[in-house]
Amino acid sequence: MRQRIAVVGSGPAGLTFARVLHRHGHSVAVLERDPAPDARPPGGTLDLQEGLGQLALDKAGLTAEFRALSRPEGQAMRILDTDGTVLRDWRPRPDDRANPEIDRGQLRDLLLGPLDVQWGRAVTRVEPGTRDGVLVHCADGWRETFDLVVGADGAWSRVRPAVSPATPHYTGVTLVETSLDDVDTRHPDLARLVGDGSVAVYGVNRALVAQRNSGGHVKVYAQFRAPLDWHARLDRADAGAVLPSLLALYDGWAAPVLDLLRRGTAFVPRPLHVLPVSHTWTHVPGVTLLGDAAHLMPPLGAGANLAMLEGAELAESLAAGPADPDQAVRAFEGRMWARAGRWAEITSAGLERLVSPDPAAALALFDHVNRADPADHVNRADPADQADQADQAEPS
Ligand SMILES: Cc1cc2nc3c(=O)[nH]c(=O)nc-3n(C[C@H](O)[C@H](O)[C@H](O)COP(=O)(O)OP(=O)(O)OC[C@H]3O[C@@H](n4cnc5c(N)ncnc54)[C@H](O)[C@@H]3O)c2cc1C
Repeated sequence: MRQRIAVVGSGPAGLTFARVLHRHGHSVAVLERDPAPDARPPGGTLDLQEGLGQLALDKAGLTAEFRALSRPEGQAMRILDTDGTVLRDWRPRPDDRANPEIDRGQLRDLLLGPLDVQWGRAVTRVEPGTRDGVLVHCADGWRETFDLVVGADGAWSRVRPAVSPATPHYTGVTLVETSLDDVDTRHPDLARLVGDGSVAVYGVNRALVAQRNSGGHVKVYAQFRAPLDWHARLDRADAGAVLPSLLALYDGWAAPVLDLLRRGTAFVPRPLHVLPVSHTWTHVPGVTLLGDAAHLMPPLGAGANLAMLEGAELAESLAAGPADPDQAVRAFEGRMWARAGRWAEITSAGLERLVSPDPAAALALFDHVNRADPADHVNRADPADQADQADQAEPS
């Protein structure tokens, strides 16, 4: 393969794509806007599913390293009523490796390995169809031509406009993220509440989820229905400004649950946006998309998994040295659209139930996806199965 390839973005999609190509002895230019790998906090923990994210890591030859870092016990899930009553307390079997958790920072470093990323390259646009190929423009004036440009630059992709006019729209749900450090020593009561994995509480049009990361760090996500500008009047950095507004939304919830917010440090509002379900485009030679750039969907455990598998699959098909690489990209796009479309439907329906007027809908969904008997635990990689279960979970 003698193609000049660039991937824009060093998230899960871009890094997996580059790492699998690297494994097969092919080079790729990785263009990343951030000035350094640790320029901003990497975010919370990710669960990587057996047939998706874990399969991608296998294709990158990183299964053993992933197993050493990941936390199968992090799959544990406790659901509380808003008054603090424990409704479900699910724990994985010791050998259950269906969806182990890994910190995003650890996953990034694992994938980065030997890759030579061009940090501080903020792509502004790509121009397909020039005489020399696809021209990539960067904010610092740097320009370069490639045979294939892969847009793995997330929700607000600068590559996407070259193939599609679609832009993300607001779901009506805002997520506010906060965190707790050293929980086991500084907040032992909350450490017990969260356990080894996650605790979730579902109320009317509101939810609160806390997830243990490695090193005694806990991420807390408050999710609620609100206008898009809910956070606009709040000072993001000032806990004193955000907290009272948040506590007003969760008025009447049990004190230990509210302590997850009260003891939080910085508060980061994230209005949840999505691309249209089943987003596709007319193929443009020399440009394609992966991950959130292609199919941004609600954050319900699929986005990074899909992004990684897509990166691995596209890399493998290019590394195989197809006679017509553009045809290989076109075939890949068809497979990606079909799979991502099914997941987009499931996660969109899931968000409607998890942050809904009827908290029982969230519990029913949990029971169908994670069956009550741990021996039957499934969190399936095949979305068709989950779709089945989600349909059954429809409250009557
Ligand atoms: C709270 C939360 C929890 C989640 N939990 C899970 C989970 O448990 N499991 C799961 O599978 N998914 C989860 N997701 C979804 C997951 O985070 C995303 O789907 C995933 O990160 C998408 O990967 P990506 O590589 O496509 O994009 P991103 O992770 O967004 O990476 C894009 C990269 O491109 C770079 N970039 C952006 N613009 C430019 C530019 N113009 N030029 C150059 N570089 C650029 C960015 O800096 C970034 O490094 C969660 C999401 C949220 C918000």
